Amino acid sequence: CGIVGYIGPKQAQDVLISGLSKLEYRGYDSAGVAIGDGACITVRKKAGKLANLSTELEATPLAGTLGIGHTRWATHGLPNDTNSHPHATEDGRIVIVHNGIIENYLSLKEGLIARGHGFKSETDSEVLAHLIEEAYKGDLESAVRTALSQVRGAYGIVVTHVDHREIVAARTVSPLVMGVGEGEMFLASDVPALLAYTRNMVFLHDGDMVVLNDDGFRVTDLQGNALNREIERVEWDA
Ligand code: GLU
Repeated sequence: CGIVGYIGPKQAQDVLISGLSKLEYRGYDSAGVAIGDGACITVRKKAGKLANLSTELEATPLAGTLGIGHTRWATHGLPNDTNSHPHATEDGRIVIVHNGIIENYLSLKEGLIARGHGFKSETDSEVLAHLIEEAYKGDLESAVRTALSQVRGAYGIVVTHVDHREIVAARTVSPLVMGVGEGEMFLASDVPALLAYTRNMVFLHDGDMVVLNDDGFRVTDLQGNALNREIERVEWDA
């Protein structure tokens, strides 16, 4: 339902919680974040109000300057802690959040289970983490591209890997907007999540894929062809 991503010098937890709180108006049943500190990525997620998660994070904060966050509106699988996003691979090295519906997830899941993948949740989204893991040969962007070539449906997906200081995202139908800061980059499913941090935004188009790092971004299509996307100045009130 709601997505926020951050890479830069700030503590990611603060940016994610603040951003997700600006998306609460959309309605949701669970919330979660994944924070990377260079050595590992830690997932914290909870069913219910964002306050449940943020209270716990205030008591025991997650340190790290790269993060992805999500508020879920369940379509596949009950709204409980396990089905909340982010979803990680079994080794915890790849972590994703997803908005939308993966229509062919059942057949993809059967194939992945047959090839040895263990699933934790009942969501359609979790197949994305396993497909990316299966395609990963050292280049996260190309692994995400290979994974997405197998899925049908609507998605805004944001991915991170413990070995890379970067965030890879893509969208089909579900919206994604990028915030361009100085030495930091943001992602969100909607503008209000980012207004406290930057007004320089790039609205991703259907079928766009983007790689973000601390210094900037690169947009391609799903085949890997470079695309030019303008940075727009958003003058709305927060
Ligand atoms: N289909 C996914 C799920 O049920 C994502 C739902 C959403 O967009 O929040 O977990």
